[in-house]
Amino acid sequence: MKTKQTDFDILVVGGGLVGLTVALACGQAGFSVGVIDIAKPSDQLADSHDGRASAIATASFRMMRALGVADALIEDQDTHAGPINQILVSDGQAGQAPSPLNLFFDAAGIAETNAGEPLGYMVENRRMRHALHQQTKKQDNITWIAPARVSDIAASADKTTITFDASDGESKTLSASLLVAADGRNSFVRKMTGIGVTGWPCNQKAIVTTVEHELPHGGIAHELFLPAGPFAILPLTGNRASIVWTETPRAADAAMALDDDQFAAELARRFGDFLGWVKPVAQRWCYPLSFQHAKTYIGDRLVLVGDAAHAIHPIAGQGFNMGLRDAAALAEILVQARAEGRDLGDGFTLAQFESWRKFDNTVLTHACDVFNKLFSNNFGPLKHARRIGLTVVDKLPPVRQFFMKEASGQVGDLPPLLRGEKYS
Ligand SMILES: Cc1cc2nc3c(=O)[nH]c(=O)nc-3n(C[C@H](O)[C@H](O)[C@H](O)COP(=O)(O)OP(=O)(O)OC[C@H]3O[C@@H](n4cnc5c(N)ncnc54)[C@H](O)[C@@H]3O)c2cc1C
Repeated sequence: MKTKQTDFDILVVGGGLVGLTVALACGQAGFSVGVIDIAKPSDQLADSHDGRASAIATASFRMMRALGVADALIEDQDTHAGPINQILVSDGQAGQAPSPLNLFFDAAGIAETNAGEPLGYMVENRRMRHALHQQTKKQDNITWIAPARVSDIAASADKTTITFDASDGESKTLSASLLVAADGRNSFVRKMTGIGVTGWPCNQKAIVTTVEHELPHGGIAHELFLPAGPFAILPLTGNRASIVWTETPRAADAAMALDDDQFAAELARRFGDFLGWVKPVAQRWCYPLSFQHAKTYIGDRLVLVGDAAHAIHPIAGQGFNMGLRDAAALAEILVQARAEGRDLGDGFTLAQFESWRKFDNTVLTHACDVFNKLFSNNFGPLKHARRIGLTVVDKLPPVRQFFMKEASGQVGDLPPLLRGEKYS
């Protein structure tokens, strides 16, 4: 889409799930927003673009309701959001029954905090992306600029200016008070502005697909810890589940190379027969996994959000949720800056964003990395200790409740959107 507007309050580079949410939250709060993406919108919206489904925590889903995105997930009176009522975490071996020492989370255990809602919802990313696009299109103050390749960024005393190559091959410029980098884990903006990261590869890949199964799953998410990493069975709408099967890179490449029947058999061996027959009904995707955290989230008239700031292992289904919390906090800080007559890109505004989000994200990114290391191995004493650890947490209601509240995203200083409050 083309635009004649060249000056915005906010420019978002990266119109993925997090960038779209930032644009929508800020657009609904009354700011003019430009969203620049390197990909064509039609490519991003193709079903083949992203095979993942995301566990959306209760608080994050409340935000999606406030933004109108939850309504946009409804089609023919049915929602594409499947409730997660319970989570069962167990340790096991492929082809063997899970260890009886396990951990069980039930939404009923935090019914008061959760107002009777489930622990979260599973939504396919392709559905979420469509819903976010649909909502942003309703905002006259949000402008799409795509496909476009950013080539230069220059911040001055009163604005930031980006230069980009437009789809017609011309080099153009846009300016704004604030630039938001939401361009994913390999963020061009982060690299271009010299912001470093701490990070390491996880030596794992995640195979993702969708399966159909014979029996209803009852909204139970299963996380089975196998020696190479977690094997997650995540309840989608209907008798369907999203699979995240973590393996060593070599084993993942081998599984991806199997023909359909061999792959289905190997997957069924891990899945077991507790839901009757099971068969893959979508293509397979494979994602290399790594840990990465930006050394700072802010620069000159710049903030980093989502995977551009922090990319983590999907073991706890938190990456997108963290990006949503970034988006909600940023929108609130910008609304306050406007109310106080401050510049959206001044140092005080940006420092508030960093202090609100960096500590939380640091704790969660490292916790996910430690959990993954603890659970993705077959070392005897460690295996024994973690099985006992799961059972201890299971048998201590306050500790179990703490983990459930964390998983449902209801702890800490929640910005208005995560409490379900709207800007418009
Ligand atoms: C297997 C797996 C399962 C997961 N499951 C969950 C889950 O259950 N729950 C959860 O919360 N999280 C989950 N995550 C994490 C979640 O998917 C990510 O955190 C989330 O997608 C990050 O979104 P983003 O918008 O920050 O980045 P991206 O989705 O990477 O989007 C980046 C956008 O920027 C654009 N872009 C890239 N480069 C440029 C450029 N130079 N110029 C302009 N645009 C550019 C891209 O086209 C894209 O649109 C999972 C991750 C994996 C790998």
